[in-house]
Amino acid sequence: MQNRRDFLKTAALAAIGSGVAINNMFAGNGGSPAPFSINKQGATPKMKLNFFAYELKLRHVFTVATFSRSTTPDVQVEIEYDGITGYGEASMPPYLQHELGTVDSVLAFLKRVQDTIGQFSDPFQLEDILAYVDKLSPGNAAAKAAVDIALHDLVGKMLGAPWYKIWGLDKDKAPSTTFTIGIDTPDVVRAKTKECADQFNILKVKLGRDNDKEMIETIRSVTNLPIAVDANQGWTDKHYALDMIHWLHDKGIVMVEQPMPKTQLDDIAWVTQQSPLPIFADESLQRLSDVVGLKGAFTGINIKLMKCTGMREAWKMLTLARSLGMRVMVGCMTETSCAVSAAAQLSPAVDFADLDGNLLIANDRFRGMEVVKGKITLPNLPGVGIIKL
Ligand SMILES: [Mg+2]
Repeated sequence: MQNRRDFLKTAALAAIGSGVAINNMFAGNGGSPAPFSINKQGATPKMKLNFFAYELKLRHVFTVATFSRSTTPDVQVEIEYDGITGYGEASMPPYLQHELGTVDSVLAFLKRVQDTIGQFSDPFQLEDILAYVDKLSPGNAAAKAAVDIALHDLVGKMLGAPWYKIWGLDKDKAPSTTFTIGIDTPDVVRAKTKECADQFNILKVKLGRDNDKEMIETIRSVTNLPIAVDANQGWTDKHYALDMIHWLHDKGIVMVEQPMPKTQLDDIAWVTQQSPLPIFADESLQRLSDVVGLKGAFTGINIKLMKCTGMREAWKMLTLARSLGMRVMVGCMTETSCAVSAAAQLSPAVDFADLDGNLLIANDRFRGMEVVKGKITLPNLPGVGIIKL
């Protein structure tokens, strides 16, 4: 343990290293240290926010029953403070635009943040800054997440520590990520599954159509890997949903996401109570205030940064869900390694991770979290753990 003299010595050395006079460390704020509020020139630095639209190019055309697409709208954000830059990102898949916004709405929201963020002189005041950003207007979850991620990256870099460490997590406990096998003809599904079975430890399949059993049988003809199922609200009858879940349990499926429409919460609760598999909420959930209402209806929740406004709220959701005895998974959209690595910082604390979004794009701007032998592997980099390419 450091005694007071050692502490002052260390503090003084740190102050010299950062160009801050020791007297400044104890000035103001009732004498508490404020080593980051004054820069080398003695002026108070200001946060500056920049942003630009950045269309994500998908490696493969993404097809579901109702549409296919080859790009995802995205906006990149940078917050600069005292020579350090934090990176953030908003990703807005078209089918979630009502919840997440469009490129235009995100750019308009970020302009308002850009014009006013200079009022905050201390990036460490995440609670105040992000509460201010949240109150600027309702909705805009992805734009808010972009600001949140950039601020977390900035603060982590100022501390010289990744967020999994700041949160007190052991990165060796990060789980394997699921990888989604897209709906396709049996031949294509078999080929894709063969390819993925060597690289991943758990697969994900989207069900909720009339060929659900065929899809699972096709994958099972190739591999015995555990499978996570996402029904995307596709089953509308509770008896049918429960029968499917029992059948899936026999086929080695390990969890089911959103079996029924979010409007049928009582039916979902009925299914969950009798289900042999854990049932996770996705469409039923957006933000922190939704979590309590899902206890009893679901076994766990799927937290996504773009929906919940970012890392700050995600951590609170995780903590609340745990205190309610619920399980937690972390998911993502199609995103660069920026937002995926931000989500991965939480992953040592979750039961399931669905963080394959960066693997799907051809124009990543960052290198960060990597999937090694199927497992989420966090780099020893500060902030959200990324390097700009
Ligand atoms: Mg889902």
